[in-house]
Amino acid sequence: MRYESTRGTAPTLDFRDATLAGLASDGGLYVPEAWPTLSANEIAALAGLSYAETAARIMTPFVGDTLSADELRAMCEAAYGRFSHAAVTPLVQLDQQHFLLELFHGPTLAFKDVALQFLGLLFERFLTGSDTHLTIVGATSGDTGSAAIDALAGREHVDIFMLHPEGRVSDVQRRQMTTVLAPNVHNIAIRGDFDTAQALVKAMFNDDAFSQRFTLSAVNSINWARLMAQVVYYFYAAVRLGAPDRQVAFSVPTGNFGDVFAGYVAAKMGLPVARLIVATNVNDILHRALSAGDYSAGTVTPTAAPSMDIQVSSNFERLLYDLAARDGGAMADQMRGFESTRAMRLTNAQAEGAAALFTSDRVEPGDMSETMRWACHEAGQVIDPHTAIGLAAARRAGLPADVPVVTLATAHPAKFRDAVERATGSRPTLPGRVGDLFDREERYATLDATFEAVTAYIAERAVAKVR
Ligand SMILES: *Cc1c(COP(=O)(O)O)cnc(C)c1O
Repeated sequence: MRYESTRGTAPTLDFRDATLAGLASDGGLYVPEAWPTLSANEIAALAGLSYAETAARIMTPFVGDTLSADELRAMCEAAYGRFSHAAVTPLVQLDQQHFLLELFHGPTLAFKDVALQFLGLLFERFLTGSDTHLTIVGATSGDTGSAAIDALAGREHVDIFMLHPEGRVSDVQRRQMTTVLAPNVHNIAIRGDFDTAQALVKAMFNDDAFSQRFTLSAVNSINWARLMAQVVYYFYAAVRLGAPDRQVAFSVPTGNFGDVFAGYVAAKMGLPVARLIVATNVNDILHRALSAGDYSAGTVTPTAAPSMDIQVSSNFERLLYDLAARDGGAMADQMRGFESTRAMRLTNAQAEGAAALFTSDRVEPGDMSETMRWACHEAGQVIDPHTAIGLAAARRAGLPADVPVVTLATAHPAKFRDAVERATGSRPTLPGRVGDLFDREERYATLDATFEAVTAYIAERAVAKVR
């Protein structure tokens, strides 16, 4: 399997190189040259397999010959062995039609662990025996940072520098990052907001002098390997609900469009997906794009579901590319237009192609809280604000009563316990696996939000390229 860039000019790469590169050199995102498919018999044969075994089967065509079958299976066992539920991503039934797919049983309590636990092993495997030392630089509003740090702490050949906005992540999120004391983990609190931290990271990648000195890479969901790992749970859940003989719908709390794009990939591979519901909060660029063709960015409004407080959804480019006959030149023009005006219209082909599978909804804070109360009092499930947005959209989507609707539960309620307590009146307790999080020593630097301050800090600690 080879990977091509959505903007048409970067070289095609194999799975290993696409994983290590993250972003393509022409500014585009890597996608497989063609979607592999599973026959109905192959999908039926997934019934009853363990999560790790399902993962190995789904990922096999994507990794090609960069990993042997035994290596891939061993990595899936290792990555998903660290989850606290034996089913890894269990399904919970709420009522006759609705289900939650609990994706938060990993070490840092959000669905990001499902992909990042695997990505950490991939980086280590692909770097062993090479003289490359990766310098991962990222900005986080909380969940990606904690999941990436857990996955990479103590691994050889890689350092991780994670920027978070000082005072704007929850206590649980900050401590999950700053109490990891492995020498290859470097936490930086930035005196600024998330957008500022993100802009600093982009500036580092775009600075020739800096990016030529270190082998920079990224762990956010522009990395194809993360999306590939997320395709697995769509199959895993749908097969348990009767696929391939029965259609299943999914509702996905969406920010950067990574998680729901994995659902699109599952459908492309042959899974009978009745609908993908893109649920947004008031930061609704994707809802406007999918319902009216208007992809235009405004300013971010902070909400109780901070991991969805996003204006520009990077992975949307992957969908637009696939729906527009995979024309990299046209895509590069469309994205250049967006980057200069912060607005673009979907073409007819893109709008019609998306409408065949996706619907979207924007959920107001009041409906989010009401849904947390409904889940708690009517279905006996405490859910977090992100999950509540997905479930609110699912319950009013008007799908036929015989189609099961699975809402992806993206975070453990304890990770956002203040918001859960405000809505439901009860405070979720932290699960035992986070242990003595509040007694552990923290370590992080606090820096001004300037390019000079941050690059000087990183340059002192990162490992330069071998020449
Ligand atoms: C990251 C995140 C999301 C959004 O996922 P995308 O792949 O960016 O669309 C939703 N909920 C939680 C809890 C998250 O951490």
